[in-house]
Amino acid sequence: MALVLGVESTAHTIGIGIVNTEGKILADARATYFPKKGGILPREAADFISENYSKVLKEALAQAKVSLKEIDCFAFSQGPGLGGCLKIGSNVTRYLAIKHKKPLIGVVHGIGHIEIGKLLTEAKDPVILYVSGGNTQVIALSGGRYRVFGETLDIPIGNCLDQFALQVGLKHPGGPEVEKLALKGKNYIELPYIVKGMDLSFTGLLTSAMKLHKTGKYSLEDLAFSLQETAYAMLIEVTERAMAHTNKKEVLIVGGVAANKRFCEMLEIMAKERNAKAYYVPMKYAADNGTMIAWAGALMLKSGVKQELSKTSVRQKFRPDEVDVTWT
Ligand code: AMP
Ligand code: MG
Repeated sequence: MALVLGVESTAHTIGIGIVNTEGKILADARATYFPKKGGILPREAADFISENYSKVLKEALAQAKVSLKEIDCFAFSQGPGLGGCLKIGSNVTRYLAIKHKKPLIGVVHGIGHIEIGKLLTEAKDPVILYVSGGNTQVIALSGGRYRVFGETLDIPIGNCLDQFALQVGLKHPGGPEVEKLALKGKNYIELPYIVKGMDLSFTGLLTSAMKLHKTGKYSLEDLAFSLQETAYAMLIEVTERAMAHTNKKEVLIVGGVAANKRFCEMLEIMAKERNAKAYYVPMKYAADNGTMIAWAGALMLKSGVKQELSKTSVRQKFRPDEVDVTWT
């Protein structure tokens, strides 16, 4: 049994987790950057990560009651993400791996979300709906890779909610704020529903919701309600089609937006109609964290993945379908 330390630093969170290769979580430490106002400023986020890396590392080691010398493998988020944030995580983690003469494994951020979701639920071979601030993809394992069946053509769903919230004067992150307001909304206001084949577009929806808000004719509650209903229905339509195509009977939601209760409720209805089962990554591990990177790294290590150091530079546009899944 080996100990794997995983580092997440794709955007707002520096997260460090420690797991063993049997799937026991020994530590989950993190610090998250919240912009003073507005959205994430990439440079501030990168500074935040560099200022908090060692504190979070100390906390993770203390939680697991181990020292760096006892770590058998270091894993890190190789991408996709913000360049500056990724580089700090990768450079510091690479240094630790070299110093302690241990292997270094680069993990696709989204595969981290998928694998921690599978570890913590009973999902075996689900269609995965990956909905976060920086990503929106419908994924399923097919032919040895996590294939992307559908994805956003422009902004991710979480970003759409965050931008709407900012424009109408709510706090960042906007997802939970929009959710609170939507609970009080009663009237559905028609908004652009854009599904193109298996792909999605959220910018038209966002622009339209903001324009309607500016007219002053609609309550924010009704707009938040309509925004959620429309966006989530679009996501569920594409997910259902991926399930029909792959004949899979499980669906797993991962990423920060998985915290939304209405979204989960809508998904549940769809799953029931298909005699399928819906799984949700536990709230604590829905948002970005280092544990998911540690666990994906542990699976890769166990399956014999070896990466040369020269192949572990960061990739801002790294996709899950670029990696052979050798571990399931
Ligand atoms: P992640 O990028 O996976 O760390 O998740 C962050 C994203 O999840 C942000 O865009 C948040 O607005 C969104 N989010 C968090 N909680 C909720 C919620 N309850 N409903 C909708 N979106 C949420
Ligand atoms: Mg994420």
